[in-house]
Amino acid sequence: MKVTDHLKEAQGTLFSFEILPPLKGKGIQTLYDGIDPLMEFKPKFVNVTYHREEFIYKERDNGLLEKIAVRKRPGTVGICAAIMNRYDVDAVPHLICGGFNREETENALIDLQFLGIDNVLALRGDSIKNEAVYVPELGGHKHANELIHQISQMNKGHYLMDDYKTDPTDFCIGAAGYPEKHFEAMNLEDDLYHLKKKVEAGADYIVTQMFFDNTKYFNFVDSCRAIGINVPIIPGLKPLKNLSHISFIPKYFHIDYPVELSRALVKCKTNDDVAKVGIEWGIQQSKELKAAGVPCIHYYTMSNSSSVKAIATEIF
Ligand SMILES: Cc1cc2nc3c(=O)[nH]c(=O)nc-3n(C[C@H](O)[C@H](O)[C@H](O)COP(=O)(O)OP(=O)(O)OC[C@H]3O[C@@H](n4cnc5c(N)ncnc54)[C@H](O)[C@@H]3O)c2cc1C
Repeated sequence: MKVTDHLKEAQGTLFSFEILPPLKGKGIQTLYDGIDPLMEFKPKFVNVTYHREEFIYKERDNGLLEKIAVRKRPGTVGICAAIMNRYDVDAVPHLICGGFNREETENALIDLQFLGIDNVLALRGDSIKNEAVYVPELGGHKHANELIHQISQMNKGHYLMDDYKTDPTDFCIGAAGYPEKHFEAMNLEDDLYHLKKKVEAGADYIVTQMFFDNTKYFNFVDSCRAIGINVPIIPGLKPLKNLSHISFIPKYFHIDYPVELSRALVKCKTNDDVAKVGIEWGIQQSKELKAAGVPCIHYYTMSNSSSVKAIATEIF
């Protein structure tokens, strides 16, 4: 079932979460261990991230360097199928532009259709290690709006090869939104302009980057509505969990902590202290979002569900 249909049918705010594929070499049980504790909150859909390959250089015996592609977290599509099969819940694979040309994208989408997957979160992806800026694959997409356009075209039965007559796909398409602006955007207005292009290309709903200040989300929704972005906007929340998150999250995701949260974080001495603050903050944020009638709250678990479980117990 489509994410948008789940939202339409919902009686109140839905619960959903995102997981990462396990690291290469870890079994599927690692994944289930992260999901099992959250199923009691009846998520209607579970997102599975996609991770691009990284390139490493190995010195050969002759002194030449060999470029080797390494995928640390493979298996997004297979994992989605496993989740749907085991939990009878919709899985939302993330599909990125990076590393794919248009033909490979089309093939990936056909595979998803064969598996009965109705949803896809369409993203550009970031630059890979050793690349200063994002570089599209030859014949691939520069921005998420182009990927969304390709999926929309397939939904209308237009495939890349004209003579390839087949049934249209019927994907529900999600796109990413950034309440605190995407880090490459010149300003929030410019970012919103591009977000609107994604909706015009066919995005059915938006999921936001994590934020810790609900005012940023509410303002973002108002700004979207003001320029005619009328699709559902699902807030994404991440419970802070350990000491390294404190500096990593603002640096990596380009977001700010509100002063009240930063004051609580500087007092933390251990990972447990941070996890406690993260849970309390997550409960406070979730309560306010739910009271405001958001369609769904989407939690970033980073494959560690204990904090999300503690928050969900209070909220759902
Ligand atoms: C909910 C969520 C889930 C994510 N999951 C993953 C994942 O599984 N795997 C992964 O690798 N990454 C993931 N990311 C990270 C994402 O790939 C990066 O943030 C990436 O840098 C931007 O992706 P995007 O789809 O927003 O790109 P875009 O929409 O292409 O935007 C990127 C930048 O380009 C600008 N822009 C957009 N369109 C145009 C245009 N047509 N012309 C000029 N400028 C334009 C935008 O303003 C923005 O600054 C996720 C992010 C979010 C919020």
